[in-house]
Amino acid sequence: MKNNGGRLRHQIVLVPCPFQGHITPMLQLGHILHSKGFSITVVHTQFNSPNPIHHPHFRFLSIPDGLSDQIIASGNILTILSLINVNCRAHFKQVLADQIGSEIVCCVIYDELMYFSEFAANQLNVSSIILRTTSAATCLGRVAFHRLKQQGLIPFQDSMLQSPVPDLQPFRFKDLPTPFSRNMEAFLALVHNAYSNRTSSAIIWNTMECLDEFSLAQIRQESHIPIFPIGPLHKIASSSSSTSLLKEDIGCIEWLDKQANNSVLYVSWGSVATADDQEIAEMAWGLVNSKQPFLWVVRPGLIRGSQWIEAFPEGLTEAVGERGCIVKWVPQKKVLGHGAVGGFLSHCGWNSVLESICEGIPMICKPNFGDQRVNARYVSHVWRIGLEMDDEMERGNIEIAVRRLMVEEEGLELRKNAKILKDKVEAGLQNGGPSSNSLNDLAAKIMSF
Ligand code: UDP
Repeated sequence: MKNNGGRLRHQIVLVPCPFQGHITPMLQLGHILHSKGFSITVVHTQFNSPNPIHHPHFRFLSIPDGLSDQIIASGNILTILSLINVNCRAHFKQVLADQIGSEIVCCVIYDELMYFSEFAANQLNVSSIILRTTSAATCLGRVAFHRLKQQGLIPFQDSMLQSPVPDLQPFRFKDLPTPFSRNMEAFLALVHNAYSNRTSSAIIWNTMECLDEFSLAQIRQESHIPIFPIGPLHKIASSSSSTSLLKEDIGCIEWLDKQANNSVLYVSWGSVATADDQEIAEMAWGLVNSKQPFLWVVRPGLIRGSQWIEAFPEGLTEAVGERGCIVKWVPQKKVLGHGAVGGFLSHCGWNSVLESICEGIPMICKPNFGDQRVNARYVSHVWRIGLEMDDEMERGNIEIAVRRLMVEEEGLELRKNAKILKDKVEAGLQNGGPSSNSLNDLAAKIMSF
């Protein structure tokens, strides 16, 4: 234990998964636990390492991940994750052993996809806790995926896309969290490793009872370890330190300042999804033709085979003109909280959905793969705070969807629902509410190790 200004601090070792949508909630959890009196050590891969400058109270330790430039450039997430789980195990054990040698480590909290951490913790007799950074409904969807595969229902024909999945309300086959690559076996192995009966002592979930009530209840019935839904983490963490791997373009806020209230559509595909230049051109023309102002994040690498937007077809940049602001990366929570933003066209990553809900912003759902499909179903069908866009990335579909959300009566209704959900989440975040109770229970659990 370390004496910190007269207070004894217990150390927690965090192991984030090296992708933006996973690093952010883990660091936010770190800030929350730090404010509860724990000292925080972040053990991370060399690939996508977090920036320590923004988190001066944490200790950061890097471990070799053995990923070649070629593997990283392939963008094959399944391969990257499988290699990390093999390559990091021994290095992590060594780092953890060194920490135990110098201070008391009360537990390891690891991302569900960084399951190598559990082996090392077990071998060194340190308790471990899993952090799940997707919704509880996604967990049920992934587990169902296994069952459906065994029943021979996966892979499924296109004719089944709209059919309900047996025993899995409210999912249709198209809402299942399908893998980001065609390698089904590797995907199922990853899901098995993340969800099989692990030996960890508890699960922390970046979700909230009022968003995920039925899924959490079902999971609790089947779980032999306590579940702590503590979310949305970004609202509970007192620190607003940047967790971005990319540089944020602050200039977009000045652009937003000049726009009318609720008038701007914010467009982002998150940190991993990619598209081809044809799809992006259709998106661009759809946005332009909708005649609504838009702020569009075109992340470097979003367009396959391009650095940025240099491959935009002739005339498109001029057509975007003053109506649109295209940037590489934004401070998204700030953008969603800006009064000018009235809608979010999103790939429906779980962090983006939570951030949008917390600002009461209605959405257009354009999911790509994995849990994005589950989240989109919840946004459009369960919470009714967004609309589902036609699958085909075609300018006419996009224009219609944008006008439905930003101009038509339907959009007003969705905005009203989004505001009601935002208020519900805020009420749940109060002292004595479910997330704060869960956090106190978690802190007590960690102290009992
Ligand atoms: N994000 C950001 N700036 C951007 C686009 C995204 O800060 O320009 C953040 C966003 O706030 C969210 C994360 O990147 O916290 C993306 O996570 P999400 O789960 O939504 O999607 P993923 O990137 O994992 O697909």
